[in-house]
Formats: sequence, structure tokens, C-alpha cells
Amino acid sequence: MPELPEVETLVRQLRPQLVGRAILSARLSHDNLLSGVTKPTLIKQLKQRVITDVTRRAKHALVHTDTKILAVQPGMTGALILYRKPMSTEEVKYAVLRCELDDGAELVYRDVRRIGTLRWLTPKDWQAYQDGLGPEPLDPEFTAEIFANRLAKSRAAIKKVLMDQRFVVGVGNIYAAEALFAAGIDPSKPANEVEPSRLARLHDEVVRILELSIAAEGTSFRDYVTTTGDKGGFQLELMVYGREGEPCRVCGTRLASTHEIDARSTVFCWRCQS
Ligand SMILES: [Zn+2]
Repeated sequence: MPELPEVETLVRQLRPQLVGRAILSARLSHDNLLSGVTKPTLIKQLKQRVITDVTRRAKHALVHTDTKILAVQPGMTGALILYRKPMSTEEVKYAVLRCELDDGAELVYRDVRRIGTLRWLTPKDWQAYQDGLGPEPLDPEFTAEIFANRLAKSRAAIKKVLMDQRFVVGVGNIYAAEALFAAGIDPSKPANEVEPSRLARLHDEVVRILELSIAAEGTSFRDYVTTTGDKGGFQLELMVYGREGEPCRVCGTRLASTHEIDARSTVFCWRCQS
């Protein structure tokens, strides 16, 4: 699943190339990804729009236009890609939304499994939608102190709280597992039983790992590509995620995995994390 760093990477790469561009026409191959808008309305209203900004909120990439906002929530295999030359047959096959731009390029929402969500919202409707989302982990106002105080109120497993989008947005399975390892915290430990100083440390690890991953242009996933078609570069540096049964990079212990915290696999080192 593209997480916050992958979406942030997409946005940073696209913004300078898209701001000021006009959309000449749009095409949509599958309308089951639409939420709150019909295919004819979206296609008609995208036409002649001028792109004014490209931003991120949680795991949504937002293409702001002179009227509405196209909010793209990439699915597991979703990405926004800017094609400057004609697409291959395979690229066309996975192109869900295609926007022809006035500089000859084509802005494409590509999704192999077609499980992302596309919304077309007025700024007011977007505001109402995003008010329901939790705080941004990289927002300087979401300090270690606020983070720790809020975490300390929960009796749930700390990994579960960390991944709860109402607590903080954009921290999925990979970054939760990596940050908990870096902070030396057992992912299954109730949040209110972790010492405040270690909760503050966890905040700093979340920020450090997300920023590191953004700098490396996102983690490399199956079917995930950046806007230039490259694989992300962070995967080699993962400490625990996806490494069940392999030796801990710190102490050499075989990394364990549990499915008991949530429905997903959580890999951890029982020696380094307590
Ligand atoms: Zn270890």
C-alpha cells in the first residue's frame, strides 16, 4: 500500500510539472473507483480546468484546480504518473484516469488492481472531509508531547493505535513496524503501559523514518513506481518489515511475526523490543 512517503513523493515530483497546466480532456476506463461523482460529471468538469496546486493530506494526493479538487487515494497498486510520450499497450491497460494536458503530456492515475478512490470535491466539501482525518505526523504542531499524551490514553496495543488514522494519519504497517523497532517498543504492548519518555522517542522515530523515506522517494513495493517509473529506494534499509525469520540487524536474533495485534503481520525482535 502506498503510504505517506510514497504519496508525498508523488506530490513533490508532480507539483512543479503540473501547476499552471490546463486539462484539455479526460478519459476514465472504470467508474467503480469514483466516490461521490459520476463518470460523465467528472469527465465534463475536468475539461478546461487549470491546475493550481498539487498537495498531500494523509494518503491522498490532491490535484487542485481553478474550480474543484481531484482527491486521489491510491490503492495498493495505484500511482499518479505523468507520461511525456505515448503509453505502451500495457500502460494503457492499467491507466484508469487519463488527463490530456496543454503541454502534450498526459496525467494518468494508474492502478493495476483498481482499488483506489477518486473524489472530485469543492474546496468546502474537501475541508469537511479532511476535518474527519487525524493530525499529520510531520506537522510541527503535532509535537512529541501531544503525541505521547494522546497515546498514553489508550489501552490498545501500541501498534494498533499508531496505525489508527484518527490518532495520526499516514502511518501504515511498514512505518509502524519500523518506528516501533527503532524506539525499542514491543508492538503488542498496551499504549498506556509504555513510559512517556519512550512514547516521545517513538514520535521522533516516526518523524525520522517518514522523512528518511521521503528523501529516498518512498519504499519500493510490488507494482509501486514513482512518477518517473523508478522503484523507490528505501526497501534495502528496512529493519523489520517483511523480514520475518531473518536475523535482527542489531542483535542477530531471528525476527518473529505475529498476527494477533491486528489482522496483519507484525514483525519484531523480541530481544530489542520490550
Ligand atoms: Zn534485535
